[in-house]
Amino acid sequence: MIIHEHFDINENGHLTIGGLDAVELAERFGTPAYIIDENAIRARCREYLGAARCEFGEDALVLYASKALCFTGIYKLAAEEGLGIDCVSGGELYTAKRAGFPAERIYFHGNNKTDRDLSDAIDMGVGRIVVDNLDELAALSREASKRGIVQSILLRITPGIDPHTHKAIVTGNIDSKFGSAIATGQAMEIVKAALASKGIDLAGLHCHIGSQIFDVDPFADAADIMIRFIADIKRECGYEIRELNLGGGLGVRYTEYDREISYTDAIADIAKIVRSFCVTHGIKMPKVLLEPGRSLVAAAGATLYTVGSVKQIPGFRTYVSVDGGMPDNPRYALYQSQYTALIANKADKPKDLRVTLAGRCCESGDLIGENMELQSAERGDILAVLVTGAYNYSMASNYNRIPRPPVIMVKDGEAKVAVRRETYEDIVKNDVL
Ligand SMILES: *Cc1c(COP(=O)(O)O)cnc(C)c1O
Repeated sequence: MIIHEHFDINENGHLTIGGLDAVELAERFGTPAYIIDENAIRARCREYLGAARCEFGEDALVLYASKALCFTGIYKLAAEEGLGIDCVSGGELYTAKRAGFPAERIYFHGNNKTDRDLSDAIDMGVGRIVVDNLDELAALSREASKRGIVQSILLRITPGIDPHTHKAIVTGNIDSKFGSAIATGQAMEIVKAALASKGIDLAGLHCHIGSQIFDVDPFADAADIMIRFIADIKRECGYEIRELNLGGGLGVRYTEYDREISYTDAIADIAKIVRSFCVTHGIKMPKVLLEPGRSLVAAAGATLYTVGSVKQIPGFRTYVSVDGGMPDNPRYALYQSQYTALIANKADKPKDLRVTLAGRCCESGDLIGENMELQSAERGDILAVLVTGAYNYSMASNYNRIPRPPVIMVKDGEAKVAVRRETYEDIVKNDVL
């Protein structure tokens, strides 16, 4: 096992992903390629849903925050596993629809939904629209009234929690482009506006405090604040909030320096706290929703590359360059995210090099990591970066007109193309002049 149990080493000393030889996968599908272990995702879906129903009650729902890894097949998988989904754009809604995802289990998010997004979402019959602000509430009320329907919504509330993760991915603070803050009075203002709006059914509240969180404490703080707020709404407006969506954000082990985390235990701890706060504040236990993205899909993925140039700069460092980089994994450039890398065809050899892993773009910041431990690398080696299932393919770009890699799903000893590799023809297909 390397970091997660579906990464291992076989008798040839090669890395295996879900039991398949990574070097053979690279030969068969080419590089770079995203490899996703389907069983690892399904196991996480079952763990989350099982724990949520056991701890919060049978009506609890787990929504897959699909921005983490988005393509048609993943929505089919989420539907089969009985999850709901969180979509944040017209493009994600369109993909979910194409996959035949049940519309009533779609929650539509976003801090700046366009009028077209709102119309599309209503016409698709999405279960809930998570309304971010007063402008959007007014626009949605107009669209719903025009059609003579009542749209169920959640309101995105900012509880004002700093979960002590990287600033760029903290979204629960008061100073945030997302939602309405309780502390400023804007949250109560939008609740009252929603209750007074035509064509709007206020089903519940939503908060999302950040990402890559390993402690339960920030969730406990958020739940405390949200449940107090539900009690305030009951007192001030005489209205009972029925649903509480506590967002996503539980962490994932990327390197051996990250802690192990049990999602079952985390959910049990959060549930205990939610139940006790409901009793303390005298409200009925709402239907609880959890909204994980990263923790459902990150660990399942690995990216395979071919090593090109290896450049030792005496007195400085060793650059190992691969045939991908920031176009397929922008997370080091964005957040200095840490990863585990290894040479797939030398996986049983000691890591005796310390390297900077570089991409192939004309951009000095095009790095996958610095100070990474690696086996001695040479041109032609297959290099694997582990735990790339989340926010890699979904954040990929065509910078430098580099085609996006394919997504290969492995399951029970078989590998299938889920998203094919882009071609140069794909790259120019929208060029009109
Ligand atoms: C990104 C996001 C999530 C998922 O966060 P993870 O850290 O990937 O679990 C959930 N809800 C909302 C609203 C988000 O924006």
